Amino acid sequence: MPKLKLSDRQLYALIEAVKLGEEIKPSQQAKRKAFSKYRIESWENSKLTGIFYSIQRRLGLIDEVIGELVGVSPLILDPWLRATLRVAVEVAVFRNPNEKTLQHLKGLAKFLSSRTHPYVGYYYYDLLPKVINYVPRLDSEEKRLKWDYLFPEWFIGKMRELLGDEAKELLKALNKTLPVSLRVNGLKASVEEVEDYLRERGLRFERSDRVKTVIRVLDPFNPGKLMESGLALPQEEASAVASLILDPKPGETVVDLAAAPGGKTAHMAELMSNEGKIYAFDVDPERIKRMRKILRWAGVEIAEVRKLDGRKAPEVLGEGVMDRVLLDAPCTSDGTIAKNPELRWRLREKNIPKVVSLQKELIESAWRLLKPGGRLLYSTCSMLREENEGVVKWFLARHENARLIPLNGPYDEGFLPGTMRAWPHRHGTIGFFYALIEKKS
Ligand code: SAM
Repeated sequence: MPKLKLSDRQLYALIEAVKLGEEIKPSQQAKRKAFSKYRIESWENSKLTGIFYSIQRRLGLIDEVIGELVGVSPLILDPWLRATLRVAVEVAVFRNPNEKTLQHLKGLAKFLSSRTHPYVGYYYYDLLPKVINYVPRLDSEEKRLKWDYLFPEWFIGKMRELLGDEAKELLKALNKTLPVSLRVNGLKASVEEVEDYLRERGLRFERSDRVKTVIRVLDPFNPGKLMESGLALPQEEASAVASLILDPKPGETVVDLAAAPGGKTAHMAELMSNEGKIYAFDVDPERIKRMRKILRWAGVEIAEVRKLDGRKAPEVLGEGVMDRVLLDAPCTSDGTIAKNPELRWRLREKNIPKVVSLQKELIESAWRLLKPGGRLLYSTCSMLREENEGVVKWFLARHENARLIPLNGPYDEGFLPGTMRAWPHRHGTIGFFYALIEKKS
């Protein structure tokens, strides 16, 4: 491994990015903010970005090392100390720093003292030799797998149950960074106009083969301005496929039951040519705020945004009244790990039943809203069977008048015939699940 060279300024930028990454999601935004504060330039950006993402991917392992060394969970440490130790462990344990970089790691004690209290700086200074000399004990197969693939053991086990040996390819794909993906907003722009916008900025891009309005930007790109202009929105191909499957028509009445931040609401408004009505509900005030902005930027005129628990929607809107319902359900989101690398360490197996029970309540609510002949799309960005085929099977068994409309692409069949799954390693997008259900007339 070549020797790693980092300056004080570069280490400060990394620490601040890691600290901000705890508060700002996606972590990409935290990184941009910290890097611009420390004036990180293009010649150093890709090296530091690589280290930042590698910290996010390894976070669980890094925290285990810190826990072993300090004797308590890193989560109860001062946030500056935690971020500094995370960077120090990444550099000293997982990389091969040169002598000068090790000196800079020592110098971080001063940085910490200035941000917190001199005692915190001393504490770090005393601990650092232990970090530098740390040798992991990989004494079990589970531990070795965890260190090789950077996922919690239970998650590796679940993916192996689904895919067998192919799970290794999936885990590798989840460890790669996905390019920024945009969906052109047909209410305001054509694909060619957005391509011209990117070309004028010297950016390389490619069109998706599966969704003709999706463009992947192959160079580093901040989509903020483009989104504010309403010409395009950041959206993964697999996400765009959801609204296309539900296929709402102009003049219809539609509910988006878990809608924020509104990527699919905006897409459905476009497919409906801004004619008809979309009720867009969510429970998260911050995400709703963002959704209002996004829909305004995108020129959406037919959405009524409301803070409402989707489970209460039939009481507010009535039963048997909607042409289409989208339930893009709250889920563990493990399909998006390539975009949120630290998420894998926040997933807890014990939380799955709670999420599944909310999904079941929401799908029941979606069903009550639907007219006879109406269609419901149940989708998640999870790859866990419990949240996908598990919920749909449970639902179909309860409703004789529910008919699964078979999906024939653009991705692969799910583990229940007629459903569909997008896989990161097979399709180069986030992991996604789709089931289209019709209420028989
Ligand atoms: N459809 C959105 C899009 O394309 O931009 C993404 C939705 S995200 C997968 C799931 C959403 O469900 C989150 O915004 C979360 O706040 C919301 N949520 C969680 N519990 C809910 C509930 N009981 N009722 C409605 N929304 C809920």
